[in-house]
Amino acid sequence: MTQAQVGARTAAGMRIGIIGGGLMGLALAERLASTGHQVHVYERAPQPGGLATWHDFGPFVWDRFYHVILPSDTALVEFIRRIGLAERLNWSPTRTGYYVDEQFHSLSSGLDFLRFPLLNPWSKFRLVLTILYCSRISDWRRLEHMTVEEFLVRYSGRATFEKFWKPLLLAKLGEHYRRVSAVFIWTYVKRLFSARDAAAQKEHLGYVSGGYRTVFERLLDLIARARGSVRTGIEVQAVRARAAKGIEVVAGGETEAFDKVIFTGPVNVLRSIVDPELAQVPPHGDIEYLGVICMALVTRKQLVPYYILNIADDRIPFTGVIGMSSLVATDETSGLYLTYLPKYVLSDDPMLRRTDEDIKAEFLQGFHNMFPDFDDRDIAGVHINRAFKVQPLQVLDYSARVQTPRTRHQDFYVVNTAQFVNNTLNNNEVIRTVNAFLQQFGAEFAIT
Ligand SMILES: Cc1cc2nc3c(=O)[nH]c(=O)nc-3n(C[C@H](O)[C@H](O)[C@H](O)COP(=O)(O)OP(=O)(O)OC[C@H]3O[C@@H](n4cnc5c(N)ncnc54)[C@H](O)[C@@H]3O)c2cc1C
Repeated sequence: MTQAQVGARTAAGMRIGIIGGGLMGLALAERLASTGHQVHVYERAPQPGGLATWHDFGPFVWDRFYHVILPSDTALVEFIRRIGLAERLNWSPTRTGYYVDEQFHSLSSGLDFLRFPLLNPWSKFRLVLTILYCSRISDWRRLEHMTVEEFLVRYSGRATFEKFWKPLLLAKLGEHYRRVSAVFIWTYVKRLFSARDAAAQKEHLGYVSGGYRTVFERLLDLIARARGSVRTGIEVQAVRARAAKGIEVVAGGETEAFDKVIFTGPVNVLRSIVDPELAQVPPHGDIEYLGVICMALVTRKQLVPYYILNIADDRIPFTGVIGMSSLVATDETSGLYLTYLPKYVLSDDPMLRRTDEDIKAEFLQGFHNMFPDFDDRDIAGVHINRAFKVQPLQVLDYSARVQTPRTRHQDFYVVNTAQFVNNTLNNNEVIRTVNAFLQQFGAEFAIT
Protein backbone atom coordinates (compact mmCIF):
# COMPACT_ATOMS: atom_id res chain seq x y z
CA MET A 1 0.00 0.00 0.00
CA THR A 2 1.51 3.32 -1.04
CA GLN A 3 1.31 6.59 0.84
CA ALA A 4 -0.96 8.02 -1.88
CA GLN A 5 -3.35 5.05 -1.65
CA VAL A 6 -3.66 5.43 2.12
CA GLY A 7 -4.22 9.18 1.90
CA ALA A 8 -6.66 9.10 -1.03
CA ARG A 9 -8.93 6.36 0.35
CA THR A 10 -12.45 7.49 1.09
CA ALA A 11 -13.62 7.24 4.67
CA ALA A 12 -16.12 4.49 3.77
CA GLY A 13 -13.48 1.93 2.81
CA MET A 14 -10.62 2.63 5.17
CA ARG A 15 -7.86 0.20 6.02
CA ILE A 16 -7.97 -0.20 9.77
CA GLY A 17 -5.37 -2.00 11.87
CA ILE A 18 -6.32 -3.31 15.31
CA ILE A 19 -3.65 -4.40 17.77
CA GLY A 20 -4.89 -7.12 20.13
CA GLY A 21 -7.30 -9.95 19.38
CA GLY A 22 -9.01 -10.11 22.78
CA LEU A 23 -12.70 -9.34 23.15
CA MET A 24 -12.07 -5.58 22.81
CA GLY A 25 -10.12 -5.92 19.56
CA LEU A 26 -12.43 -8.49 17.99
CA ALA A 27 -15.64 -6.69 18.97
CA LEU A 28 -14.24 -3.50 17.42
CA ALA A 29 -13.09 -5.42 14.34
CA GLU A 30 -16.51 -6.98 13.84
CA ARG A 31 -18.30 -3.63 14.06
CA LEU A 32 -15.87 -1.80 11.77
CA ALA A 33 -15.64 -4.61 9.21
CA SER A 34 -19.43 -4.84 9.03
CA THR A 35 -19.57 -1.18 7.98
CA GLY A 36 -17.38 -1.82 4.95
CA HIS A 37 -13.87 -1.11 6.23
CA GLN A 38 -10.93 -3.42 5.58
CA VAL A 39 -9.97 -4.53 9.06
CA HIS A 40 -6.81 -6.40 10.06
CA VAL A 41 -6.31 -7.64 13.60
CA TYR A 42 -2.86 -8.50 14.98
CA GLU A 43 -2.77 -10.95 17.88
CA ARG A 44 0.52 -12.09 19.35
CA ALA A 45 -0.82 -15.24 21.05
CA PRO A 46 -1.31 -18.41 19.01
CA GLN A 47 -5.09 -18.17 19.45
CA PRO A 48 -7.45 -15.21 19.77
CA GLY A 49 -9.46 -14.30 22.88
CA GLY A 50 -6.85 -12.71 25.18
CA LEU A 51 -7.75 -13.14 28.83
CA ALA A 52 -11.13 -14.63 27.88
CA THR A 53 -9.63 -17.26 25.58
CA TRP A 54 -10.21 -20.99 25.89
CA HIS A 55 -8.11 -23.89 27.17
CA ASP A 56 -8.01 -27.56 26.23
CA PHE A 57 -8.72 -29.42 29.48
CA GLY A 58 -8.37 -32.81 27.74
CA PRO A 59 -11.89 -34.26 27.78
CA PHE A 60 -13.42 -30.83 27.05
CA VAL A 61 -12.57 -27.23 26.16
CA TRP A 62 -13.62 -24.34 28.39
CA ASP A 63 -12.44 -20.83 29.32
CA ARG A 64 -8.82 -20.65 30.47
CA PHE A 65 -9.97 -18.38 33.30
CA TYR A 66 -13.44 -18.48 34.88
CA HIS A 67 -16.01 -16.16 33.29
CA VAL A 68 -19.65 -15.48 34.13
CA ILE A 69 -22.28 -13.13 32.80
CA LEU A 70 -24.44 -11.11 35.19
CA PRO A 71 -28.12 -10.32 34.58
CA SER A 72 -27.13 -6.64 34.74
CA ASP A 73 -24.55 -7.08 31.92
CA THR A 74 -26.99 -5.52 29.49
CA ALA A 75 -24.42 -4.35 26.90
CA LEU A 76 -22.81 -7.81 26.81
CA VAL A 77 -26.14 -9.65 26.61
CA GLU A 78 -27.26 -7.36 23.79
CA PHE A 79 -23.96 -7.97 21.98
CA ILE A 80 -24.35 -11.75 22.35
CA ARG A 81 -27.86 -11.44 20.94
CA ARG A 82 -26.69 -9.23 18.06
CA ILE A 83 -24.03 -11.72 16.94
CA GLY A 84 -26.70 -14.43 16.88
CA LEU A 85 -25.91 -16.34 20.08
CA ALA A 86 -29.00 -15.48 22.18
CA GLU A 87 -30.10 -19.11 22.16
CA ARG A 88 -26.75 -20.26 23.55
CA LEU A 89 -27.08 -18.08 26.66
CA ASN A 90 -27.97 -20.01 29.86
CA TRP A 91 -28.89 -18.69 33.30
CA SER A 92 -28.81 -20.53 36.63
CA PRO A 93 -29.29 -19.71 40.29
CA THR A 94 -25.96 -19.84 42.12
CA ARG A 95 -24.63 -19.43 45.65
CA THR A 96 -21.81 -17.51 47.30
CA GLY A 97 -19.79 -18.80 50.24
CA TYR A 98 -17.30 -17.42 52.74
CA TYR A 99 -14.54 -19.52 54.30
CA VAL A 100 -13.15 -18.32 57.60
CA ASP A 101 -11.82 -20.00 60.78
CA GLU A 102 -11.92 -23.35 58.93
CA GLN A 103 -15.69 -23.05 58.52
CA PHE A 104 -17.81 -22.66 55.38
CA HIS A 105 -20.68 -20.14 55.46
CA SER A 106 -23.26 -19.52 52.80
CA LEU A 107 -23.77 -15.83 52.04
CA SER A 108 -26.36 -16.23 49.32
CA SER A 109 -29.46 -14.73 50.91
CA GLY A 110 -30.57 -12.23 53.52
CA LEU A 111 -31.26 -15.10 55.92
CA ASP A 112 -27.73 -16.49 55.41
CA PHE A 113 -26.39 -13.05 56.23
CA LEU A 114 -28.45 -12.84 59.45
CA ARG A 115 -27.03 -16.21 60.49
CA PHE A 116 -23.43 -15.30 59.62
CA PRO A 117 -21.61 -15.83 62.97
CA LEU A 118 -18.52 -13.71 62.33
CA LEU A 119 -20.23 -10.35 62.90
CA ASN A 120 -22.43 -9.17 65.75
CA PRO A 121 -25.79 -7.52 64.93
CA TRP A 122 -24.33 -4.00 65.17
CA SER A 123 -21.47 -4.89 62.78
CA LYS A 124 -23.97 -6.46 60.38
CA PHE A 125 -26.10 -3.33 60.52
CA ARG A 126 -23.10 -1.14 59.67
CA LEU A 127 -22.07 -3.52 56.89
CA VAL A 128 -25.54 -3.31 55.33
CA LEU A 129 -25.49 0.48 55.65
CA THR A 130 -22.09 0.61 53.92
CA ILE A 131 -23.36 -1.52 51.05
CA LEU A 132 -26.54 0.56 50.70
CA TYR A 133 -24.52 3.74 50.84
CA CYS A 134 -22.14 2.40 48.16
CA SER A 135 -25.06 1.56 45.90
CA ARG A 136 -26.30 5.17 46.16
CA ILE A 137 -23.04 6.92 45.35
CA SER A 138 -23.02 8.34 41.84
CA ASP A 139 -20.07 10.74 42.07
CA TRP A 140 -17.28 8.13 42.11
CA ARG A 141 -14.59 10.76 41.53
CA ARG A 142 -14.60 11.86 45.15
CA LEU A 143 -13.85 8.25 46.14
CA GLU A 144 -10.62 8.42 44.16
CA HIS A 145 -8.95 10.61 46.78
CA MET A 146 -9.61 8.29 49.71
CA THR A 147 -8.09 4.87 50.41
CA VAL A 148 -10.42 1.91 50.50
CA GLU A 149 -9.45 1.34 54.14
CA GLU A 150 -10.33 4.92 55.14
CA PHE A 151 -13.69 4.59 53.42
CA LEU A 152 -14.62 1.21 54.89
CA VAL A 153 -13.48 2.05 58.41
CA ARG A 154 -15.46 5.29 58.26
CA TYR A 155 -18.71 3.62 57.22
CA SER A 156 -18.47 0.05 58.58
CA GLY A 157 -16.34 0.67 61.67
CA ARG A 158 -12.91 -0.72 62.53
CA ALA A 159 -14.20 -4.06 63.87
CA THR A 160 -16.23 -4.88 60.74
CA PHE A 161 -13.33 -3.76 58.60
CA GLU A 162 -10.88 -6.07 60.37
CA LYS A 163 -13.21 -9.07 60.46
CA PHE A 164 -15.02 -8.84 57.15
CA TRP A 165 -13.55 -6.36 54.65
CA LYS A 166 -9.82 -6.71 55.30
CA PRO A 167 -9.68 -10.47 54.63
CA LEU A 168 -11.58 -9.87 51.39
CA LEU A 169 -9.26 -7.03 50.35
CA LEU A 170 -6.20 -9.12 51.19
CA ALA A 171 -7.65 -11.95 49.11
CA LYS A 172 -8.26 -9.71 46.10
CA LEU A 173 -5.25 -7.36 46.28
CA GLY A 174 -2.75 -8.70 48.82
CA GLU A 175 -1.04 -6.05 50.96
CA HIS A 176 -1.41 -3.63 48.02
CA TYR A 177 -4.97 -2.91 49.15
CA ARG A 178 -3.43 -0.18 51.34
CA ARG A 179 -2.67 1.88 48.20
CA VAL A 180 -5.99 1.31 46.49
CA SER A 181 -8.73 3.94 46.40
CA ALA A 182 -12.31 3.57 47.62
CA VAL A 183 -13.44 3.31 43.97
CA PHE A 184 -12.37 -0.34 44.15
CA ILE A 185 -14.94 -1.31 46.78
CA TRP A 186 -17.65 0.84 45.20
CA THR A 187 -17.28 -0.94 41.84
CA TYR A 188 -17.00 -4.33 43.56
CA VAL A 189 -20.16 -3.88 45.62
CA LYS A 190 -22.09 -2.52 42.63
CA ARG A 191 -21.18 -5.50 40.45
CA LEU A 192 -21.62 -8.10 43.18
CA PHE A 193 -25.11 -6.98 44.06
CA SER A 194 -26.23 -6.64 40.49
CA ALA A 195 -25.90 -10.45 40.27
CA ARG A 196 -28.97 -10.72 42.46
CA ASP A 197 -32.43 -11.02 41.07
CA ALA A 198 -34.02 -7.88 42.54
CA ALA A 199 -37.42 -9.46 43.14
CA ALA A 200 -36.27 -12.80 44.53
CA GLN A 201 -33.04 -11.49 46.12
CA LYS A 202 -31.42 -14.59 44.66
CA GLU A 203 -28.15 -14.70 42.80
CA HIS A 204 -28.40 -15.56 39.08
CA LEU A 205 -25.46 -15.98 36.73
CA GLY A 206 -25.09 -16.85 33.07
CA TYR A 207 -22.74 -18.35 30.49
CA VAL A 208 -22.69 -19.05 26.79
CA SER A 209 -22.88 -22.70 25.89
CA GLY A 210 -19.39 -23.83 24.80
CA GLY A 211 -17.84 -21.00 26.85
CA TYR A 212 -16.22 -17.88 25.37
CA ARG A 213 -14.83 -20.00 22.52
CA THR A 214 -18.34 -19.92 21.04
CA VAL A 215 -18.28 -16.11 21.12
CA PHE A 216 -14.81 -15.85 19.58
CA GLU A 217 -15.52 -18.37 16.84
CA ARG A 218 -18.65 -16.44 15.90
CA LEU A 219 -16.70 -13.15 15.83
CA LEU A 220 -13.96 -14.68 13.65
CA ASP A 221 -16.61 -15.94 11.28
CA LEU A 222 -18.37 -12.57 11.07
CA ILE A 223 -15.07 -10.73 10.54
CA ALA A 224 -14.01 -13.17 7.79
CA ARG A 225 -17.39 -12.82 6.06
CA ALA A 226 -16.90 -9.04 6.06
CA ARG A 227 -13.46 -9.62 4.45
CA GLY A 228 -11.49 -8.72 7.54
CA SER A 229 -8.55 -10.75 8.78
CA VAL A 230 -7.32 -11.87 12.20
CA ARG A 231 -3.69 -12.90 12.24
CA THR A 232 -2.61 -14.81 15.33
CA GLY A 233 0.95 -15.51 16.48
CA ILE A 234 2.07 -12.09 15.18
CA GLU A 235 3.43 -9.59 17.66
CA VAL A 236 3.36 -5.91 16.77
CA GLN A 237 6.81 -4.43 17.37
CA ALA A 238 6.33 -0.80 16.40
CA VAL A 239 3.61 1.71 15.55
CA ARG A 240 4.46 5.08 14.04
CA ALA A 241 3.00 7.91 12.00
CA ARG A 242 3.36 7.96 8.23
CA ALA A 243 4.83 11.10 6.72
CA ALA A 244 1.59 12.57 5.38
CA LYS A 245 -1.40 10.72 6.76
CA GLY A 246 -2.14 7.39 8.36
CA ILE A 247 -0.19 5.01 10.57
CA GLU A 248 2.20 2.15 9.94
CA VAL A 249 2.53 -1.04 11.92
CA VAL A 250 5.65 -3.21 12.06
CA ALA A 251 4.91 -6.85 12.82
CA GLY A 252 6.45 -10.18 11.86
CA GLY A 253 9.21 -8.43 9.90
CA GLU A 254 6.73 -6.55 7.68
CA THR A 255 5.53 -2.97 7.66
CA GLU A 256 1.90 -2.29 6.77
CA ALA A 257 0.17 1.04 6.23
CA PHE A 258 -3.26 1.84 7.58
CA ASP A 259 -5.59 4.81 7.51
CA LYS A 260 -6.28 4.29 11.18
CA VAL A 261 -4.93 2.05 13.95
CA ILE A 262 -6.57 1.14 17.25
CA PHE A 263 -4.50 -0.28 20.10
CA THR A 264 -6.30 -2.51 22.65
CA GLY A 265 -3.46 -4.12 24.66
CA PRO A 266 -1.98 -3.28 28.07
CA VAL A 267 -0.15 -0.06 28.90
CA ASN A 268 3.36 -1.58 29.11
CA VAL A 269 3.02 -2.84 25.51
CA LEU A 270 1.73 0.54 24.37
CA ARG A 271 4.78 2.17 25.91
CA SER A 272 7.20 -0.26 24.29
CA ILE A 273 5.84 -0.22 20.72
CA VAL A 274 4.40 3.24 20.17
CA ASP A 275 6.38 6.19 18.93
CA PRO A 276 6.05 8.93 21.63
CA GLU A 277 4.93 11.25 18.84
CA LEU A 278 1.68 9.26 18.70
CA ALA A 279 0.76 8.93 22.33
CA GLN A 280 1.98 10.20 25.65
CA VAL A 281 2.13 6.99 27.67
CA PRO A 282 2.51 7.27 31.45
CA PRO A 283 6.06 6.46 32.59
CA HIS A 284 6.97 2.95 33.68
CA GLY A 285 5.66 2.11 37.12
CA ASP A 286 2.87 4.65 36.91
CA ILE A 287 0.30 2.01 36.11
CA GLU A 288 0.90 -1.25 37.97
CA TYR A 289 -0.97 -4.36 36.88
CA LEU A 290 -2.17 -7.29 38.90
CA GLY A 291 -1.49 -10.68 37.38
CA VAL A 292 -3.18 -13.98 38.17
CA ILE A 293 -2.15 -17.57 38.73
CA CYS A 294 -5.04 -19.90 38.34
CA MET A 295 -5.12 -23.61 39.02
CA ALA A 296 -8.02 -25.48 37.43
CA LEU A 297 -9.04 -28.78 38.96
CA VAL A 298 -11.03 -31.23 36.85
CA THR A 299 -12.65 -33.78 39.15
CA ARG A 300 -15.10 -36.65 39.11
CA LYS A 301 -17.04 -35.18 42.06
CA GLN A 302 -18.37 -31.70 42.73
CA LEU A 303 -16.06 -29.87 45.15
CA VAL A 304 -18.15 -26.89 46.29
CA PRO A 305 -21.84 -25.95 46.01
CA TYR A 306 -20.89 -22.28 45.46
CA TYR A 307 -20.00 -20.36 42.33
CA ILE A 308 -17.68 -18.21 44.44
CA LEU A 309 -16.26 -19.20 47.77
CA ASN A 310 -14.37 -16.21 49.19
CA ILE A 311 -11.47 -17.21 51.41
CA ALA A 312 -10.54 -15.17 54.47
CA ASP A 313 -7.61 -17.27 55.66
CA ASP A 314 -4.03 -16.29 54.83
CA ARG A 315 -2.82 -19.87 55.32
CA ILE A 316 -4.60 -20.86 52.10
CA PRO A 317 -2.40 -20.07 49.09
CA PHE A 318 -5.24 -19.18 46.70
CA THR A 319 -7.81 -16.45 47.23
CA GLY A 320 -11.05 -18.07 46.19
CA VAL A 321 -12.64 -21.27 44.96
CA ILE A 322 -14.72 -20.87 41.81
CA GLY A 323 -17.07 -23.81 41.38
CA MET A 324 -17.70 -23.42 37.65
CA SER A 325 -19.80 -26.58 37.63
CA SER A 326 -22.27 -25.10 40.10
CA LEU A 327 -23.20 -22.87 37.15
CA VAL A 328 -22.23 -24.73 33.98
CA ALA A 329 -24.08 -27.97 33.17
CA THR A 330 -21.73 -30.97 33.36
CA ASP A 331 -22.71 -32.10 29.86
CA GLU A 332 -20.59 -29.11 28.73
CA THR A 333 -17.59 -30.62 30.54
CA SER A 334 -17.87 -34.32 29.63
CA GLY A 335 -19.62 -35.17 32.91
CA LEU A 336 -16.66 -33.84 34.92
CA TYR A 337 -16.52 -30.93 37.39
CA LEU A 338 -14.42 -27.83 36.81
CA THR A 339 -13.14 -25.72 39.73
CA TYR A 340 -10.73 -22.78 39.51
CA LEU A 341 -8.42 -21.66 42.33
CA PRO A 342 -7.06 -18.17 41.57
CA LYS A 343 -4.42 -16.06 43.27
CA TYR A 344 -3.91 -12.40 42.29
CA VAL A 345 -0.45 -10.83 42.71
CA LEU A 346 1.36 -7.81 41.26
CA SER A 347 2.55 -8.55 37.73
CA ASP A 348 6.22 -8.55 38.78
CA ASP A 349 5.68 -10.88 41.74
CA PRO A 350 8.14 -13.83 41.63
CA MET A 351 5.20 -16.17 42.26
CA LEU A 352 4.10 -15.69 38.64
CA ARG A 353 7.44 -17.16 37.54
CA ARG A 354 7.36 -20.26 39.71
CA THR A 355 7.09 -23.61 37.94
CA ASP A 356 3.73 -25.25 37.37
CA GLU A 357 4.81 -28.21 39.53
CA ASP A 358 5.68 -25.92 42.42
CA ILE A 359 2.35 -24.09 42.25
CA LYS A 360 0.43 -27.31 41.81
CA ALA A 361 2.01 -28.83 44.95
CA GLU A 362 1.33 -25.73 47.07
CA PHE A 363 -2.25 -25.19 45.88
CA LEU A 364 -3.16 -28.89 46.26
CA GLN A 365 -1.79 -28.87 49.80
CA GLY A 366 -3.90 -25.77 50.54
CA PHE A 367 -6.92 -27.48 49.01
CA HIS A 368 -6.39 -30.53 51.26
CA ASN A 369 -6.16 -28.23 54.28
CA MET A 370 -9.55 -26.78 53.42
CA PHE A 371 -11.13 -30.08 52.42
CA PRO A 372 -9.46 -32.83 54.52
CA ASP A 373 -11.84 -35.46 53.09
CA PHE A 374 -10.89 -34.70 49.51
CA ASP A 375 -9.57 -37.81 47.78
CA ASP A 376 -6.87 -37.29 45.10
CA ARG A 377 -8.28 -40.27 43.20
CA ASP A 378 -11.18 -37.99 42.22
CA ILE A 379 -8.82 -35.75 40.24
CA ALA A 380 -9.07 -36.14 36.46
CA GLY A 381 -6.72 -33.24 35.64
CA VAL A 382 -4.81 -30.30 37.11
CA HIS A 383 -4.01 -27.25 34.92
CA ILE A 384 -1.98 -24.18 35.79
CA ASN A 385 -2.55 -20.98 33.84
CA ARG A 386 -1.21 -17.51 34.47
CA ALA A 387 -1.64 -14.01 33.07
CA PHE A 388 0.70 -11.14 33.83
CA LYS A 389 -1.30 -8.05 32.88
CA VAL A 390 -4.82 -8.56 34.08
CA GLN A 391 -6.01 -5.41 35.76
CA PRO A 392 -4.40 -2.12 36.80
CA LEU A 393 -4.16 -1.43 40.51
CA GLN A 394 -6.66 1.39 41.09
CA VAL A 395 -4.48 3.56 43.29
CA LEU A 396 -5.44 7.05 44.54
CA ASP A 397 -6.39 9.39 41.68
CA TYR A 398 -5.96 6.57 39.18
CA SER A 399 -8.07 8.18 36.45
CA ALA A 400 -5.51 10.99 36.01
CA ARG A 401 -2.90 8.41 34.87
CA VAL A 402 -4.86 6.91 32.01
CA GLN A 403 -4.29 7.43 28.29
CA THR A 404 -7.58 8.55 26.74
CA PRO A 405 -8.84 7.05 23.42
CA ARG A 406 -7.90 10.29 21.64
CA THR A 407 -4.10 10.37 21.28
CA ARG A 408 -1.64 12.93 19.90
CA HIS A 409 -2.30 11.63 16.39
CA GLN A 410 -5.72 11.87 14.74
CA ASP A 411 -5.40 8.39 13.17
CA PHE A 412 -4.20 6.48 16.22
CA TYR A 413 -6.53 5.49 19.08
CA VAL A 414 -6.15 3.63 22.37
CA VAL A 415 -9.07 1.63 23.75
CA ASN A 416 -8.11 -0.68 26.60
CA THR A 417 -9.17 -1.97 29.98
CA ALA A 418 -6.78 0.43 31.77
CA GLN A 419 -9.43 3.04 30.89
CA PHE A 420 -11.95 1.35 33.24
CA VAL A 421 -11.66 4.04 35.88
CA ASN A 422 -15.01 3.46 37.52
CA ASN A 423 -15.67 -0.21 36.93
CA THR A 424 -14.21 -3.63 37.61
CA LEU A 425 -12.55 -5.59 34.81
CA ASN A 426 -15.40 -7.34 33.02
CA ASN A 427 -16.68 -8.05 29.55
CA ASN A 428 -19.81 -5.96 29.88
CA GLU A 429 -17.52 -2.97 30.37
CA VAL A 430 -15.44 -4.10 27.36
CA ILE A 431 -18.54 -4.02 25.14
CA ARG A 432 -19.78 -0.78 26.69
CA THR A 433 -16.36 0.76 25.98
CA VAL A 434 -16.46 -0.43 22.35
CA ASN A 435 -19.96 1.03 21.95
CA ALA A 436 -18.94 4.33 23.57
CA PHE A 437 -15.82 4.55 21.40
CA LEU A 438 -17.79 4.04 18.18
CA GLN A 439 -20.36 6.53 19.36
CA GLN A 440 -17.73 9.16 20.15
CA PHE A 441 -15.53 8.64 17.09
CA GLY A 442 -18.13 7.21 14.70
CA ALA A 443 -17.84 10.18 12.33
CA GLU A 444 -14.06 9.61 11.99
CA PHE A 445 -14.81 6.02 10.95
CA ALA A 446 -17.71 7.04 8.68
CA ILE A 447 -20.22 5.32 10.97
CA THR A 448 -23.46 7.18 11.38
C1 LIG B 1 -9.10 -14.73 36.16
C2 LIG B 1 -10.04 -13.86 35.36
C3 LIG B 1 -11.40 -13.95 35.60
C4 LIG B 1 -12.28 -13.13 34.89
N1 LIG B 1 -13.62 -13.26 35.11
C5 LIG B 1 -14.49 -12.52 34.41
C6 LIG B 1 -15.89 -12.70 34.57
O1 LIG B 1 -16.35 -13.54 35.33
N2 LIG B 1 -16.73 -11.92 33.84
C7 LIG B 1 -16.26 -10.97 32.97
O2 LIG B 1 -17.08 -10.30 32.33
N3 LIG B 1 -14.93 -10.79 32.78
C8 LIG B 1 -14.04 -11.53 33.49
N4 LIG B 1 -12.70 -11.36 33.29
C9 LIG B 1 -12.25 -10.23 32.48
C10 LIG B 1 -12.18 -10.50 30.98
O3 LIG B 1 -11.38 -11.61 30.73
C11 LIG B 1 -11.64 -9.22 30.33
O4 LIG B 1 -12.61 -8.19 30.49
C12 LIG B 1 -11.39 -9.33 28.82
O5 LIG B 1 -10.75 -10.51 28.48
C13 LIG B 1 -10.56 -8.12 28.37
O6 LIG B 1 -10.42 -8.17 26.97
P1 LIG B 1 -9.44 -7.18 26.19
O7 LIG B 1 -9.53 -7.52 24.76
O8 LIG B 1 -9.73 -5.79 26.59
O9 LIG B 1 -7.99 -7.47 26.79
P2 LIG B 1 -7.09 -8.77 26.61
O10 LIG B 1 -7.94 -9.97 26.72
O11 LIG B 1 -5.94 -8.60 27.54
O12 LIG B 1 -6.60 -8.67 25.10
C14 LIG B 1 -5.49 -7.91 24.69
C15 LIG B 1 -4.82 -8.71 23.58
O13 LIG B 1 -3.75 -7.96 23.04
C16 LIG B 1 -2.75 -8.87 22.66
N5 LIG B 1 -1.49 -8.17 22.50
C17 LIG B 1 -0.77 -7.54 23.46
N6 LIG B 1 0.35 -7.01 22.94
C18 LIG B 1 0.34 -7.29 21.61
C19 LIG B 1 1.24 -7.01 20.54
N7 LIG B 1 2.38 -6.32 20.72
N8 LIG B 1 0.92 -7.45 19.30
C20 LIG B 1 -0.24 -8.15 19.08
N9 LIG B 1 -1.09 -8.45 20.08
C21 LIG B 1 -0.82 -8.02 21.32
C22 LIG B 1 -2.74 -9.87 23.82
O14 LIG B 1 -2.11 -11.09 23.47
C23 LIG B 1 -4.22 -10.03 24.09
O15 LIG B 1 -4.79 -11.10 23.38
C24 LIG B 1 -11.79 -12.19 33.96
C25 LIG B 1 -10.41 -12.12 33.71
C26 LIG B 1 -9.55 -12.95 34.40
C27 LIG B 1 -8.06 -12.88 34.12
